[in-house]
Amino acid sequence: QTVNLERLKGKENITQSGQKIDVCANIGTREDIENVIRSDAGGIGLFRSEFLYMESGTKPPTEEQQFQVFRLAAEAMGEKRVVIRTADLGGDKQVNCLDLNGDPNPALGYRGIRVMLEKDEIFRTHLRAILRASMYGNIAVMFPMISSIEELRQAKRQLEKAKKELKEKKISYNENIQVGVMIETPAAVMISGELAREADFFSIGTNDLSQFTLGMDRLNERLEGHYDAHHPALLKMIRIITNNVHLEDKRISICGDLAADLEMTEYFISLGIDELSVAPGQVLGLRKKIREIQ
Ligand code: PEP
Ligand code: MG
Repeated sequence: QTVNLERLKGKENITQSGQKIDVCANIGTREDIENVIRSDAGGIGLFRSEFLYMESGTKPPTEEQQFQVFRLAAEAMGEKRVVIRTADLGGDKQVNCLDLNGDPNPALGYRGIRVMLEKDEIFRTHLRAILRASMYGNIAVMFPMISSIEELRQAKRQLEKAKKELKEKKISYNENIQVGVMIETPAAVMISGELAREADFFSIGTNDLSQFTLGMDRLNERLEGHYDAHHPALLKMIRIITNNVHLEDKRISICGDLAADLEMTEYFISLGIDELSVAPGQVLGLRKKIREIQ
């Protein structure tokens, strides 16, 4: 089986009838970068940058510390794209360096982009590190847990401010860095048409989107029997997002766990999803599945 999968490396991800789809990898640790290279993924579709904050103890990581890690990933991937999601802190991702505790309902609380828009100095330190690393490869930036146009606009304003800060210090960065939005709240689904006019690419976070759509805590084991990962409401949402994003000629990917569900691959291809991003160990299996589809 392993030998068989290894033979897929370097080959296109194409169905029997000629439809193509990109397969990228998600990373959540420094070590994962090696695994992505080994998997021959088409890029990093989701860089969960939270680990930098989880590792850093009681103080947030410095611009330099973050820059070094982002640069490593960018250089390792060469021309392949690295989508760095800005730190999605809070909720199920608690850290010691920021005071996020005490939410009565963490999944619906102070988390994701909401935290960074409030802690704007910390956000811009993070953004400057990403921008600086953009000189060493093909880096894009993506915002998590967006639920309004205003949040996207505010995040983009912070990005512009971070660029200006670098410019004043004569530090170079990619002026045209692409900006992406994660679609992981039902609100974002309903305004995906408007969002699609103001960002360059989109990625569906099915883990959070299903938790909010079904109203079921993603971490609650007691709900396992009730949880329907293929709920028609979720599949319909994925179709709506894809159509809205494609109407604006932008790219749509899926980076939540559902992207690796081989029972769903054919449906995703039929919708015209541009990219699936999965754990490094799932890349080759998914590529095999794609080549088997008619
Ligand atoms: C998601 O919500 O599907 C996602 C990819 O983000 P995370 O799992 O890190 O919340
Ligand atoms: Mg999420």
